[in-house]
Amino acid sequence: MPSPLIPTRLFGIIGHPLGHSLSPLLHNWGFGHFGLPGVYMAWPVAAGRVADFMTAVRVLGIEGVSVTIPHKAAVMEYVDEMTDRARAVGAVNTLFWRDGKLWGENTDVAGFVAPLGEMGDVPGTALVVGGGGAARAAVAGLTELGVAEIFVCNRTAAKAEVLVRDFGVGCVAWEKRADHAGGLVVNATPLGMLGKNEGLSPMPPGSVGALAVAYDLVYNPHETVFLRDAAAAGARVIPGLAMFFGQAVAQFRLWTGCELPTVAGMALLRKALYGEGDGA
Ligand code: NAP
Repeated sequence: MPSPLIPTRLFGIIGHPLGHSLSPLLHNWGFGHFGLPGVYMAWPVAAGRVADFMTAVRVLGIEGVSVTIPHKAAVMEYVDEMTDRARAVGAVNTLFWRDGKLWGENTDVAGFVAPLGEMGDVPGTALVVGGGGAARAAVAGLTELGVAEIFVCNRTAAKAEVLVRDFGVGCVAWEKRADHAGGLVVNATPLGMLGKNEGLSPMPPGSVGALAVAYDLVYNPHETVFLRDAAAAGARVIPGLAMFFGQAVAQFRLWTGCELPTVAGMALLRKALYGEGDGA
């Protein structure tokens, strides 16, 4: 608990509904870890109240905000400046202050790139399955990494075409995605996620044999059907929790200049999500 003599720095997340966001757990743990007088709150803000919330950010001096669905595009008109990444993705997931100006950033890109950077030899060809916000962050990240051939594939072709137009990547028809399953395949759909999609994979059965790397942005469960199939076929796998942790690390760095420790931070998240270990 911060000392009452030290002003508490206010941070939080907005979205609607917020559900069981892991962000308060992780960022509050981070403040405790570094002995910083910060508190991170969860603010469920309805779609029509974004303007009011952005006024509150300025009036109350809120120092940092995580922005999640459905507000990632709506907040863009209320910031003073935007980073190149946020412009490229067309979405802001982080608000922070620099020199008196309120900035919008997209740390989903840094979060997506982080585990690929750690892996080292990223394949030269990639297929991103999905056409929503996560797919846009993935394509922006792959572009930054210099992946030579990037394809997108989405159930609704018109949404994939938007990515083709915005990022200059290739497009694969939904029915043909198995033919392009070499190199890296990224699942940017909810297929495989706990609940009604849990038993499903973004790739047809038997189509993951030629994969070098399978990257699932879904992080609950830890091992999705897609990752299990790909691992069994000999591919390297990257679970979605790595991206979630990476985007939070980038936010915490922007707000505090401190680097959330990977081993302890991931253990905290894994304990909260999957009941693993003791989270120490
Ligand atoms: P979104 O904007 O709602 O997009 C969802 C995409 O999935 C759409 O392209 C949609 O296709 C496709 N889709 C949904 N249900 C499908 C189905 N039954 N069959 C085929 N395609 C389907 O969501 P998002 O924000 O991009 O998130 C996508 C996934 O990434 C979610 O599982 C989310 O949890 C995960 N995610 C993870 C992280 C992380 O940090 N690890 C960060 C962001 C998102 P249509 O266009 O045809 O509807």
